[in-house]
Amino acid sequence: MDGMELYLAALAGLLGLCMGSFFNVCIYRIPAGKSVVSPPSCCGSCGHRLSGRDMIPILSWALSRGRCRHCGARYSARYALVEGLTAVLYVAVWLLCGPTWRCLAGLLLTSLLILIAFIDWDAGIIPNGLVLIGLAAGIGYAALTGAWLNAALGAVSGALPLLAVDGLGRLLYKKEGMGLGDVKMMAFVGLFLGWKLTLLALLLGVVLGAAAAAIGLAAKKLQRGGYMPFGPYLAAGAWVSFFWGAALLQWYLGFFV
Ligand SMILES: [Zn+2]
Repeated sequence: MDGMELYLAALAGLLGLCMGSFFNVCIYRIPAGKSVVSPPSCCGSCGHRLSGRDMIPILSWALSRGRCRHCGARYSARYALVEGLTAVLYVAVWLLCGPTWRCLAGLLLTSLLILIAFIDWDAGIIPNGLVLIGLAAGIGYAALTGAWLNAALGAVSGALPLLAVDGLGRLLYKKEGMGLGDVKMMAFVGLFLGWKLTLLALLLGVVLGAAAAAIGLAAKKLQRGGYMPFGPYLAAGAWVSFFWGAALLQWYLGFFV
């Protein structure tokens, strides 16, 4: 990596840190139905407005040892985690895609998946606003790549299996299966991924979700038949599939030819 590439990667990381800081606000406020732009950030405990020095990603959290400077309330390490994760993923997207439209699409998809994963984890919902942004962006990406048919098939292959499972759940148990948030999410994800990678994303999501459920049951954090959000696992599956799905499929199919 030469100096310029290193500089641009660092810039992507910095952008990720700042976006991650904004995502923390979104993750907290969107499920509560609050505006993500106003009022400015303040301490959730004492209401003291946060100044610039309180809002430097990760650094502020580390320097104040995760406490409010005014009332001493503890801030969750989650804030720093979301910022760090966003930065790492932004750098990864930049290194994987370089200066392309795919990079821009990748950054947008990454952002939406982070927001959805954490909001679903916290509140058990996948906000329609984020789905709409995803649909618009996915259609824009299809327009840029010209792969309309594959994008449309992707949306269908993402939504239909989950819709079928949900319908089956309603029929068999007379209660809501997984909720339609997952269905809508995978519809827009499918626009970005195309049908093959969308099916792979679903498969990865199911495997990850099943593993997490097994761990949750074993650790007694999850009750049998209890609710577990599926969005975080689908998001992880979608991210891996968007960037490595083609290579994964090629490697897998290599066993058969
Ligand atoms: Zn405070």
